[in-house]
Amino acid sequence: MSTRKKRKLRPWAMLTLIFGSLSLLGLAITSLIKPAEAPASEVPQKTEEETTEETDTETPEENTDEFLADSGGESREGWEIFSDTGSLLLLANKKHPLPEGYEPSDLREPNVPMVYGSAPLRDEAASALEEMFAAAANDGVTLILGSGYRSQEYQDQLYSGYSAEYGWEVADTISSRPGYSDHQTGLAADISDHDGATYLTQDMEYAPEGIWLKDHAHEFGFIMRYPKDKDAVTGYAYEPWHFRYIGRDYAAAVWNVDEFYTFEEYFGVEGGDYN
Ligand SMILES: [Zn+2]
Repeated sequence: MSTRKKRKLRPWAMLTLIFGSLSLLGLAITSLIKPAEAPASEVPQKTEEETTEETDTETPEENTDEFLADSGGESREGWEIFSDTGSLLLLANKKHPLPEGYEPSDLREPNVPMVYGSAPLRDEAASALEEMFAAAANDGVTLILGSGYRSQEYQDQLYSGYSAEYGWEVADTISSRPGYSDHQTGLAADISDHDGATYLTQDMEYAPEGIWLKDHAHEFGFIMRYPKDKDAVTGYAYEPWHFRYIGRDYAAAVWNVDEFYTFEEYFGVEGGDYN
């Protein structure tokens, strides 16, 4: 998502990054550029970063009843855990923004191949991701890390830029309202196939890398955050490349219900579109 936006906003900066990544990874330039040439199927996926006007200034405390409305008023865990920045269950969706300006304190670059040269994650998630990539490699599957943490400031710049250029209504369809992105938790990773051929497309479902991730990510504490046909539940279209770290026990529990089960369903928290 933001990778395309970065190219649009700062094409020369992105070219520099792309060529740097090329020399590191030895990938063909066509494979890296491909995601930018968004096919029609890419359009709905851009909605991951959709936004709303800044009307939600309520604190989580004031939101409790509404937050738990879809679960009959009872979540699997105490609802505080989903707003606790120390928790691996810190929740970001269109009904539940992150604490204003949240930035994790333990971000680091995972020691894995990257598409763009930088994709920080929180330390525990970075370690789990390194293990996952190594395990995939042992199975003959080459994973490459695309995006990790993104700051609220960056989302602000992005959204402001699009608003100025296209107006807010269009901006809302291609950019995220700052504070609502799963990537701001530092626990979310966009993962590419080995040559970028299906990266950021729903076709990754059929790539060996997408199949491996769907079957094994939970063993390392990651869940597919936006599974197929769960738009109404998560608020986002199918993203077979976006994985979220929640710890091994929880990830296994979610996956064991159904390989396309969601965070919102398992924990009984409200999701879907903005209010
Ligand atoms: Zn993502």
